[in-house]
Amino acid sequence: MSDPAGMDGLCVETCEQCPALVDSRSRIVNGVGPDDADVVFVGEGPGANEDEQGEPFVGRSGDVLDDALGDHGLRRKDVRITNCVRCRPPENRDPSTEELANCRPYLERELETIDPDVVVALGKVPAQHLLERDVAVTKEAGDVETVAIGDARLDVLVCVHPAATLYDRSQEATFESTIEKAATIVGAEGGQSSLGDF
Ligand code: URA
Repeated sequence: MSDPAGMDGLCVETCEQCPALVDSRSRIVNGVGPDDADVVFVGEGPGANEDEQGEPFVGRSGDVLDDALGDHGLRRKDVRITNCVRCRPPENRDPSTEELANCRPYLERELETIDPDVVVALGKVPAQHLLERDVAVTKEAGDVETVAIGDARLDVLVCVHPAATLYDRSQEATFESTIEKAATIVGAEGGQSSLGDF
């Protein structure tokens, strides 16, 4: 397992592979969180807030995610949060197949290194990218599938995107129960991971 070019540890320092993303980004947004996290959340790609602050899921979707983590005994600082692509697509469009492929070695390296108990795919783009098939996210939310990612075999938990709960309230329960499942898998459900505070 060797670092892809431009990557130092879990961070991509330089990359110019996707011309449209190089034009639209203000920075490369790497994953955050411990390099030995039990759970890794994978989103689609940075939005405007993430591009500005240099951290995944810091806008409204991030608030939804943080609240759900807290409700199930997980804290943002104890989990890893990353994206399929690390540069903001123009007008928040979905990353193209080529852009996803260009960024894939970085994500694979990150996931192989962390080797988490579970990878939570937040939305259709990451679910399809990681499972390498079509995914009906609302229908399959809560399902776990074991797949090869780089040199690792990892359990991927399908989850609706946190933003989906903002425009469709009926997705809230699905989102919450999937985060609860992730917490149960890593043994955090019930708030055990917060005991260190006392
Ligand atoms: N949506 C994503 O998929 N990723 C982010 O980092 C923020 C919003």
